[in-house]
Amino acid sequence: MSDTEFDIIRRYFTRQDSRRRDVIAGIGDDAALLQVPAGMELVVCMDTLVEGVHFPIGTPAAAIGHKALAVNLSDLAAMGAEPAWATLSLTIPESDPDWLADFSQAFFKLADRYQVQLVGGDTTRGPLAVTVQAHGFVPESLALRRQGAQAGDHIYVTGTLGDAGLALQLAGDAGNELQHQLDYPEPRIAAGQALRGIASAAIDVSDGLFGDLRKLLSASGVGGEIDIDVVPLSAQLREAFAAEDQQRFALSGGDDYELCFTSAEELQNEVAGVRITAIGKVTEGNDLLCRDANGIVDFEDSGYLHFQ
Ligand code: ADP
Ligand code: MG
Repeated sequence: MSDTEFDIIRRYFTRQDSRRRDVIAGIGDDAALLQVPAGMELVVCMDTLVEGVHFPIGTPAAAIGHKALAVNLSDLAAMGAEPAWATLSLTIPESDPDWLADFSQAFFKLADRYQVQLVGGDTTRGPLAVTVQAHGFVPESLALRRQGAQAGDHIYVTGTLGDAGLALQLAGDAGNELQHQLDYPEPRIAAGQALRGIASAAIDVSDGLFGDLRKLLSASGVGGEIDIDVVPLSAQLREAFAAEDQQRFALSGGDDYELCFTSAEELQNEVAGVRITAIGKVTEGNDLLCRDANGIVDFEDSGYLHFQ
């Protein structure tokens, strides 16, 4: 992208106003120079969004800017981390001022909400792809891990599930609110931090509750049993489908970015202002069983896992 690369970085990604004290050098040097606070562990994650793979061609630039950061903050939330810094690798086919303005504004709007400073990145020409790396802190030994769930723990989820999967399915003519949920997921940062010392294990739900919970259980070396009748669904999802399809979306539709966690404690209905629902129990063994009022529901055999 030769000479315009520097203009892009200066115009859209360099800001004077978001200075964190732990950033010794941000954008503009060969690398960022950062100070991890004493007593904290550094939590690092990265996610890539590729046009045509992770979002459809024609997705608004603002949605891409928001989501590229949001999916990373969701991973930090699942670790119980407090977000601090981000780096951004941006590959774009052309230098389109409107696109760049929308993209960067949405990125910074979300970044500012969580005091995240963009401290570096890379800008190249090519097929549209966005990689964000996010960094956060967690007090020593308090990070939430996928491992740690114990037989007898309760299994919880935040918010409601299935809306993003439904929006994907309805693509385009989805109700605005659902489409908004898909394009602008809100990472559960406050809930993740509030769960330090309370959750025995946690994961964010990016690929569907059933599959992601299974990852948590397998990392913990345990099994689980969930009651699919109590999995929290949004009103829109209930209106749109018959019960069986609602459950299918809630259990295997991706892109929800809620937290699924386990705890020995019987928790109230909210964590950090976010609704939580108890959906089952951790068990001995290594199977994840789903029950409804009629008994065991076999997701694999009914093809639920292969949905989409
Ligand atoms: P180098 O050639 O030394 O790798 P670059 O010219 O690629 O450096 O980048 C110059 C500075 O701009 C670096 O501090 C880099 O981290 C930052 N930067 C480049 N692209 C972006 C971007 N898309 N967002 C934020 N910072 C960026
Ligand atoms: Mg250099």
